[in-house]
Amino acid sequence: MEPTIELISGDITRIKSDAIVNAANSSLLGGGGVDGAIHRAGGPKILEECKEIRDRQGKCKTGEAVITTAGNLPAKYVIHTVGPIWNNDEEKCSQLLANCYRNSLKLAEGLDVKTITFPNISTGVYRFPKDLAAKIAIQEVKNFNSEIIEKVIFVCFDDENEEIYKKLLN
Ligand code: ADP
Repeated sequence: MEPTIELISGDITRIKSDAIVNAANSSLLGGGGVDGAIHRAGGPKILEECKEIRDRQGKCKTGEAVITTAGNLPAKYVIHTVGPIWNNDEEKCSQLLANCYRNSLKLAEGLDVKTITFPNISTGVYRFPKDLAAKIAIQEVKNFNSEIIEKVIFVCFDDENEEIYKKLLN
């Protein structure tokens, strides 16, 4: 089944869903933007687990994803995925961004997650064009047929992304 798609504007750390996705960087050691917000609101447990993962497997490659607890957040898991830094190689960057969504959904499925929430990965400091990023995000979710995941929430923090998602989802 295709999951139901919902659009919410605001702060991902406030969203109740089984899993929220973090737009992490490859160090997994925290950063600014949505990453900073998730670690601040979720508390130190999340970073501790990120460090354990790093010690075990090294950095997280672009397009891949790892899972930790959600600490104090109203979610069960945080799925950390590393988006591509936009460098004008549209094809390569698009593939990598699609991988972020697909790999996050796959991990979520393995954890029996019914609802998962995504931020607009790579569209902040990593400067991925917002229009194209939204198209890729929606396409990957629509293509992901699952017996487990029932709902996917896109959280838009900035007005520009909100307008883009509204248009594409209507
Ligand atoms: P990246 O490095 O992947 O570009 P950023 O965190 O800089 O990551 O930005 C990714 C997206 O997250 C941007 O669209 C930004 O507006 C959004 N964002 C920033 N803070 C939050 C938050 N608290 N909740 C949801 N989205 C957020």
